Amino acid sequence: MLYRQVRHIVTMLEKKNFCEVILVFDSKEGDFIRQYAAPHKQENIDTANLLTNEGYLDRWMVSPSDETTVRELYQRWYGSENTETHTAKNAPMIQPIFAFEITKGDYTLQADADVLICRRDWNHNYLQDMIDALNSAENVVSVGFNIAHKSDDFKPYSSPCLGEFVPEVRICLFNKERLLALRPFPNEIINGKYAQTWYRSLQKLQHDKGMVSLRGGDGRTFYIHPQNDVKKDKSFLYGAMREIEHNHIPEIQFENVDLIGTPQDWNYRKETDSGFHKLSHLIRASKLGYCLKGPEFPTNLNRIEIDITYDCHLRCRNCARSCSQAPDKDSLMSLGQIKRFVEESIANNVHWENIGLLGGEPFLHPQLKEICLILLEYKSMYSPETIIQITTSGNGKEITSQFSEIPVGVTIINTHKQTPHQSYFEPFNLAPIDQKQFMFSDYRNGCSTTSDCGLGLNKYGYYICGVGGGIDRVMGFDIGLKHLPLSQDELMMQRSMLCRYCGHFCSRHYIHPENRKILSGEPRSKSWVEAYRKYEQNKPNLTLY
Ligand code: SF4
Ligand code: SF4
Repeated sequence: MLYRQVRHIVTMLEKKNFCEVILVFDSKEGDFIRQYAAPHKQENIDTANLLTNEGYLDRWMVSPSDETTVRELYQRWYGSENTETHTAKNAPMIQPIFAFEITKGDYTLQADADVLICRRDWNHNYLQDMIDALNSAENVVSVGFNIAHKSDDFKPYSSPCLGEFVPEVRICLFNKERLLALRPFPNEIINGKYAQTWYRSLQKLQHDKGMVSLRGGDGRTFYIHPQNDVKKDKSFLYGAMREIEHNHIPEIQFENVDLIGTPQDWNYRKETDSGFHKLSHLIRASKLGYCLKGPEFPTNLNRIEIDITYDCHLRCRNCARSCSQAPDKDSLMSLGQIKRFVEESIANNVHWENIGLLGGEPFLHPQLKEICLILLEYKSMYSPETIIQITTSGNGKEITSQFSEIPVGVTIINTHKQTPHQSYFEPFNLAPIDQKQFMFSDYRNGCSTTSDCGLGLNKYGYYICGVGGGIDRVMGFDIGLKHLPLSQDELMMQRSMLCRYCGHFCSRHYIHPENRKILSGEPRSKSWVEAYRKYEQNKPNLTLY
């Protein structure tokens, strides 16, 4: 659970916004306040190491428990003698104040590891809003992260009176220097332990000194707090997390801090690999399922992924665009092709919800900035709501040093790949056509990728999805559409031809990386072995878009 939660938080808050991301564990190993699951110390340490290796964390630490360090910390923060690491009610005391001291930078965004973050608009600079609020007056101690409101409107940051609010312990921003200068905080010792948590004692100090903590902000970015009952039900928690990541928030959640509602209210797709579900997926994906209900996963015609190059320096195993298995440096889309895509979009009155620039590694395209400018012109002149994103591995200085050159209005999604081994990838090169259990499948059913991510476009034309375009360039069917498809029917032949080779067809729907089987090696079924062999001998020559 920790792995998934930290990945969620760091991805949604965008690591590039922070000089450092630190995970701090409480040193206590049992008997927790509001405990909802058995402790798994070693598992959590392994997870923290994995998150650090994968670039989500810069470091992780366990808060100190030795008497000398604890005593010194309390002297600085409360001006009194104590060596108990927790309050009288068992809430952590040392962990938060230790964490505040070790952070770098002028501002510290402290967050519980279980908060769920929603970004309705990735261009919204939520952090700058909070910093501005923090700097709006000398007596502001902290600024809380916004909660879910129905509208995107900006609610001015405020507090009801001096002394209020209590600092938002789940996620809020501090000016580090100002916070440290306020010490020592008032806190009574009862029966050898502090009576109040760090944030309650800070609130008392706010009252004493006429200071405030603010809440409010822009509705485009907010958090939701899952209570312990929800955390006990992983299926619900992960289902809601995914819906929140996709900005699918049920009405019932608005104006609430805690996660509200039932699995029905959140209406998420279940992530399970049980035999029953596997069977039901197989039936739905069969010729009978298609005949009775039509394609299981229609293509989302409001979204598109443009693979501007298949060149990639990282060469991950099991790459779903075959960038390592079938490298191609001669795969750049031209500016003329991007312009044509924009012209076609306007001519057909298409207001894209999302345009993704992918690959390959998009930052290896020498004209990436110009491509962004063409798309930004489309956005500003014709479709202001369109989100334009670049997805990058973020691997290496040559890549990350270019981030600052990307014009405002384009969001960079950094997947923080450190090595070519991505254990959470799906076995893309296990073609369903090579597996007996898919012998009755109708490949026109597609998979959730085409519903979630939409169309694909590469230098050879439009495809059912980006993955499909990558399959065609290796298999050489040359079936890229040379015009923008406006109906599902136009994509049926591609579904039939391409999905049969795609490992994603086997899982049917999105499975969160943490729930996937760990993938080791690079499994390939016979169709792919043959396809890559042929590719190596003679790269297919496809007609251009
Ligand atoms: S970074 Fe992405 S595009 Fe590059 S090889 Fe890895 S998975 Fe493929
Ligand atoms: S099965 Fe593969 S090619 Fe077909 S829709 Fe899914 S990801 Fe695209």
